[in-house]
Amino acid sequence: MFVFTVFVNSPLCRLILAFCNTCALETDIYDWCRDHRVHHKFSETNADPHNANRGFFFAHCGWLMVKKHPAVTEKGSKIDLSDVLNDPIVAFQRRYYLVLGLICWGLIPTYLGVYLFNERPLNSFLFNVIFRYVFVLNGTWNVNSAAHIFGNRPYNVKINPRENKAVTYLSFGEGKHSCLKWLFVLNLPLPFRLSQLPPCFSLRLLGFRVWI
Ligand SMILES: [Zn+2]
Repeated sequence: MFVFTVFVNSPLCRLILAFCNTCALETDIYDWCRDHRVHHKFSETNADPHNANRGFFFAHCGWLMVKKHPAVTEKGSKIDLSDVLNDPIVAFQRRYYLVLGLICWGLIPTYLGVYLFNERPLNSFLFNVIFRYVFVLNGTWNVNSAAHIFGNRPYNVKINPRENKAVTYLSFGEGKHSCLKWLFVLNLPLPFRLSQLPPCFSLRLLGFRVWI
């Protein structure tokens, strides 16, 4: 939502989204926005951080194991990030990301397992932190890999991003990638449920954000 600047007008909404982003531990909001805006603007080119033309594995997680292509760095340095740079919540999260990450990603979920379910700390850590991390990471990565390679393209067959039902469930709606990308290309605002086509998994989540 920070990437597309939608539903982030309310400070409370931004705070909740920043908390969720920290719990996920998938880089801070600033880095995420930079890479994701470059990804949408230069999809399937060398400037795309997880260019799906380089294969499923590279798009899924291989891109995190190698040095960035120079084009990614070059285009990333030119992308407009003034809105996130001027957001005090984003600045605070970036400054204390390591400490906040350890607390939100690791300590809170471990403690909740121990406190609410009387679980042993190690078991709670392995399930609530490690298993959840692997599951959520792969859900997110599938948006970059599977939703760029498998699925149909009702909005434009000439662009790679697709509508992928399985990824929609795994990533809370982002499997609606054909629509998402096409709206970005046309520079149109995002609808709050990302796509007109079922399953509209994001409807409830984003509806929740609307009343905030
Ligand atoms: Zn994509």
